[in-house]
Amino acid sequence: MSARTILIATGNPHKLEELGAIFEPLGIRAIGLHDISGGAGIPEPVEDADTFEGNAQIKAVAYARATRRTVLADDSGLEVDVLGGAPGVRSARYAGVEGDRATRDGANNAKLLDALQDVPDEERTARFVCAICVADAEGTVRATSRGEFAGVIGREPRGSNGFGYDPLLILEDGRTSAELTPEEKNRRSHRAEAGRKIAERLAAVLGC
Ligand code: IMP
Repeated sequence: MSARTILIATGNPHKLEELGAIFEPLGIRAIGLHDISGGAGIPEPVEDADTFEGNAQIKAVAYARATRRTVLADDSGLEVDVLGGAPGVRSARYAGVEGDRATRDGANNAKLLDALQDVPDEERTARFVCAICVADAEGTVRATSRGEFAGVIGREPRGSNGFGYDPLLILEDGRTSAELTPEEKNRRSHRAEAGRKIAERLAAVLGC
């Protein structure tokens, strides 16, 4: 692995693609756990922090120690104001942990629509949040950042791009996050903001 390669602690191809597109212009290549030998078999750490920042740090430090590489980890999710910030750090497992990713995404979206059934449009404000943490090969935290992507929760899923709650978050221009092209989402998303904020520091940590 060259000094210009960063291991992203994720098996989610959408995240790898989004972050990879941000770091590429800096000459940094992003690879995922599936790209390193034994990477997919590393036991997942328990993400039991109650903030996105705390969980990103748990993951970055655990995978850095397990692989002895510089690792970037993110934790992200959806905060809905009228639900006191829920589903928050529980976004991925809001409706349970059964089934593949698409099944869980569908169940999560259905549960959220149900929870907001009687909530008027003006109170449906929400945002995706992404916290990023970079830990070096010794497991020392070297950089952190946070990004947000705001909108309101719609009344039915719309759009077929993206993943997770994308079909429910309506942006200022009336489109949902799932109606953006991948390129546009990569430019505007919470992960893009957090990724851009950390890119320069990441280059310094990698020595490039
Ligand atoms: P993580 O993989 O632990 O970061 O969990 C993130 C969860 O939050 C995902 O499973 C989605 O449900 C939701 N989420 C995070 N980012 C996005 C996004 O960009 N679009 C839609 N849902 C997202």
